[in-house]
Amino acid sequence: MSTTRVKEHHALYGELAAIVGSKYTTDADFALWAVSRDTSVMPEKIPGIIVRPGSTEEVSEIVRLANLTNTPVIPRGGGASLFGLPAGIPGRSLVIDLTRMDKIIEINEENMTVTAEGGITTSELGTKLIEKGYFANLAFMPYYADTLGGLLAGVYGAGAGHRLCTQGANHHDVVGLKVVLPTGDVIQTGGGPGTNVHQKTTYTRECGSPDMTGMFLADAGIFGIKTEATLLIYPHEKIFNSRSYLFDTFDDLWRALSTLQRIEPYPYTMMIGVDPKGATAMTGQPSTSWVLLNALKGYTEEEIAAKVKACAEVCKAAGGRPGTEVLNGLAAAANDGAMLAEMGRFASLGSWNFLESVVSTQEAPRLFMKFREIIDGHIKEHGLEKYGVTRVDLLFPVQHNYYYSSTDVFWMDNSPDARKKFLELADVYNHLVANEGAFPGVHQRHPVESMASNWSPTFYNYVRTLKRTLDPNNIMNPGQWRL
Ligand SMILES: Cc1cc2nc3c(=O)[nH]c(=O)nc-3n(C[C@H](O)[C@H](O)[C@H](O)COP(=O)(O)OP(=O)(O)OC[C@H]3O[C@@H](n4cnc5c(N)ncnc54)[C@H](O)[C@@H]3O)c2cc1C
Repeated sequence: MSTTRVKEHHALYGELAAIVGSKYTTDADFALWAVSRDTSVMPEKIPGIIVRPGSTEEVSEIVRLANLTNTPVIPRGGGASLFGLPAGIPGRSLVIDLTRMDKIIEINEENMTVTAEGGITTSELGTKLIEKGYFANLAFMPYYADTLGGLLAGVYGAGAGHRLCTQGANHHDVVGLKVVLPTGDVIQTGGGPGTNVHQKTTYTRECGSPDMTGMFLADAGIFGIKTEATLLIYPHEKIFNSRSYLFDTFDDLWRALSTLQRIEPYPYTMMIGVDPKGATAMTGQPSTSWVLLNALKGYTEEEIAAKVKACAEVCKAAGGRPGTEVLNGLAAAANDGAMLAEMGRFASLGSWNFLESVVSTQEAPRLFMKFREIIDGHIKEHGLEKYGVTRVDLLFPVQHNYYYSSTDVFWMDNSPDARKKFLELADVYNHLVANEGAFPGVHQRHPVESMASNWSPTFYNYVRTLKRTLDPNNIMNPGQWRL
């Protein structure tokens, strides 16, 4: 007689298999384990069951069932989050993996919009658009894994996009969403069919109703599942150039960054300030200078030449001098969204703490230097150097009004102690950022919790009221934002 214990199916296995088919339903341990982590060193959260729906209708049926049975739901795209997946209830949660919903529904060349399913990867969508001569402001990275729905639930509201430094994050490029609410109802935002019964296409979100699209952007997946999105598209700029400039001090670098960032239209497509240690780590060549990486895209050679000239003049006036070919190459890699893929050295520096924040332009130089100082102090005080710390500090404008500041800390994950200590560092950073009135890169669980702990009682109650109204049983990503 065998003593092997056969694991019982999840309570909803049969009903879920009836909706999506048993081929797309599993509660096998190896599959649950495979979706229990994101890209970070945050502890795993093992769910109870996974389904892979193929349509909005199937998502709606699944969510309706989850709502009736009080089963926590975790929508999942590429699992590319950087700081922890939603907790759900380990052993019980229902993961809805959206990656089968990967179709482009329409490229509307007259309205200049694209409508695609929420599970399409940003690489697939971006590549198909480029083949047609268009471009959408998708994720800057990680190009190959994240999905459209995950991106829109996520960082800085709607993806810190490819043209991050000239068009900002994607908020304004999203003209409409199809969302399965936590009750299973399906809504279309953006005045398209389903909102206004007379309107055949979704082409703007500004008219026809209060802006119901915005509340689903950067919600960390608490208000519903984005199964379709309509985004603006642009003609693809085919001409490309990249430059770099070296500065003796941060003040000189800041003079160049802040001058260029005020010019309208922007004379650059991507501009990143890098500290000397970061430049050394990313290129493998010792650098004592602060570096400005400058990527330029355009429609004609004349346009690019004018942009290069404008940037070179500002950098020279701020005390800059031209950088090396290697740094010019780094600027190119940074721009095409494949920095990590291309910069093998950068990617192999160890486990990664991605300490990122958004700061106002006014506060950017002070906070960037303060965050570095405090991280340095923490590393020294807690003896973290012994884990082989490498640092890369980046500062770049998103639009005129705000900057993105990040300190990437790489370390050797060679003891449980190391992991614990670096998670503590992330906590210290996220709280510091929130206390300074800035924003840690949100939607991943860890920074979202730090951010929500700084909400005023009035704001917390406002969000909780919305959540309770849309999700009376609190099934959709329960616990995110401390809700
Ligand atoms: C190396 C690296 C670089 C990165 N750089 C950038 C960058 O430049 N710009 C940027 O914006 N981000 C960046 N990120 C972060 C990443 O783009 C975001 O974490 C994104 O949300 C991941 O999408 P995903 O499909 O993998 O989502 P997942 O990791 O699967 O899920 C993330 C969250 O979104 C929710 N969610 C997923 N799909 C949906 C849906 N359809 N509807 C509602 N909620 C959903 C999940 O429940 C979860 O809370 C980077 C990540 C890595 C690893």
